[in-house]
Amino acid sequence: MGERFDLIVVGSGAGGGVVAGELADSGASVLLLEAGPHRTAADFVRWEARANHEIWWPPAFAEPVAGDEPPLIMFRGRCVGGTTSINTKVALRPSAQDYEKWHAAAGLQGEGGEPFGEPDLLAHLERVEQRLGVRERTDWQQCVKSVMPGFAALGAELEPVTSYTDSNCMRCGSCLQGCPTNAGKSTLNTYIHPAWVDGRLELRAGCPVRRVMIEDRGGGSEAVGVEYLGSDGELHRVGAGVVVVAAGTLATPQLLLRSGVREAGGGSPSGELIGRHVGFHPARLVEGLFDQVQDAHMVYPITAHCMNFQRDEDGGFVVEAATIQDPIGFATALSDERGMPLWGEELSRALRSYRYYTGLLTMVSDQNHGTAWVDEEGRDRYSFQWNERERVQIDSSLQFAREVLLAAGARRVFQTGVLSTHVQGGCRMGSDPDRSVVDAHGECHAVRRLFVGDGSVVPRTLSVNPSLTIMALGSRLAAYLAGGEHGYFESRDARAAA
Ligand SMILES: Cc1cc2nc3c(=O)[nH]c(=O)nc-3n(C[C@H](O)[C@H](O)[C@H](O)COP(=O)(O)OP(=O)(O)OC[C@H]3O[C@@H](n4cnc5c(N)ncnc54)[C@H](O)[C@@H]3O)c2cc1C
Ligand code: SF4
Repeated sequence: MGERFDLIVVGSGAGGGVVAGELADSGASVLLLEAGPHRTAADFVRWEARANHEIWWPPAFAEPVAGDEPPLIMFRGRCVGGTTSINTKVALRPSAQDYEKWHAAAGLQGEGGEPFGEPDLLAHLERVEQRLGVRERTDWQQCVKSVMPGFAALGAELEPVTSYTDSNCMRCGSCLQGCPTNAGKSTLNTYIHPAWVDGRLELRAGCPVRRVMIEDRGGGSEAVGVEYLGSDGELHRVGAGVVVVAAGTLATPQLLLRSGVREAGGGSPSGELIGRHVGFHPARLVEGLFDQVQDAHMVYPITAHCMNFQRDEDGGFVVEAATIQDPIGFATALSDERGMPLWGEELSRALRSYRYYTGLLTMVSDQNHGTAWVDEEGRDRYSFQWNERERVQIDSSLQFAREVLLAAGARRVFQTGVLSTHVQGGCRMGSDPDRSVVDAHGECHAVRRLFVGDGSVVPRTLSVNPSLTIMALGSRLAAYLAGGEHGYFESRDARAAA
């Protein structure tokens, strides 16, 4: 194993991009390995099918544990910048209730031993917000103005969202195909490129990591490097003082399992919990057909949201306005009031009226009953199981969105099935090793020098869009690693002498 770095980061999305960029800024030698391709604003064009093929993972499906519900479809990016390169860039902080749930789920504590709360993350949230240039979006277009009376009629209100988009945003609506102007900030154009163009960060795209190498050198199991498939088709091994896995909730648990972290845990709860407590933030688009042109596909997708029902006791869901899917997604996901897909003449009619639709996105705070695992054939698998309370939340959010659209004057309201773009959990972070996979710094309880730095550490599903929190947790992990108190990095002098 000739090559060696202070740090290897697996996955370049919200978590991994921040960890790699900030550690490179601190002077550590960093290798960033990404399964997907390296594309930039110069490559991004509004061809939905092409983007889905080139910079998205194929959709993944979670199967219901019981009952005859349809599978839950899950989306994520597969390129440098990860899902931040293809997302809508809404930037929201966790709520007080979110932090309370984190502590309740896994005993997560802050540095002083108190329940983990905003004081533990605030400096990192602010640091990330500053780097991404988070700002309020008050530039509401017709498709938002059309639904405002509906919210008012139901006694609810819309507020501007904050987002990581700068003033060059031309509201072209192609965020999901990658921003062609760099107005949309991603970890690609804020954390990775600055360090990469200066030669301070070694970036290898198109290099999926197959396993983390774990050895016991006398002091218990520890990560010593990774094995990845290079773009030359060969397996390569690289050593490191620390490995940070940040492949996302749909890949990190399986990578730990394939690497033998469960076995290293020797039957301990922390090993057995890998892949458990996955949350989906179940979402649905509810789309109303109006008499006036809305052009909800030619806007910055989400400028407003309704937070009246954010707390669990108020309903446990958030509604965003206003957007519709791009044409292929719209045509393939449109269902009627009973949840039956549209086809034939009815679908053709709906598509001819595409410009007249505007839509609301509902998102529910679920209770993390999902699982991610590797089956006997070595394939990644996922399952979900709603309890009664989650079903009520999902149904009420749909009902509310339908009523808003009808009260706003929609002639008819359609909907998609339940989907997930905000998967979280699976490698729960906690101070109690019996209830978590990684500790409060993100280090695996079972394997030293192995950290998890992505959305899979989130102990309970956030009530808000998760990327800002995942980035702040990444920044917190980077600060801890850069601080050096763990003693895992060779000193620069020792490296130079070797
Ligand atoms: C359509 C869409 C819209 C969204 N909009 C918003 C929004 O407006 N606001 C918000 O806060 N959140 C949004 N999200 C969610 C948000 O982007 C994600 O929650 C966040 O990016 C997750 O961060 P992560 O680091 O866990 O994973 P990711 O960002 O998904 O990064 C994981 C990376 O790891 C790579 N990888 C996987 N396996 C391997 C391997 N074996 N080897 C090497 N690399 C690997 C992947 O290719 C990927 O690049 C959206 C998501 C989607 C899909
Ligand atoms: S709407 Fe704005 S942020 Fe989104 S792709 Fe277009 S310019 Fe970029």
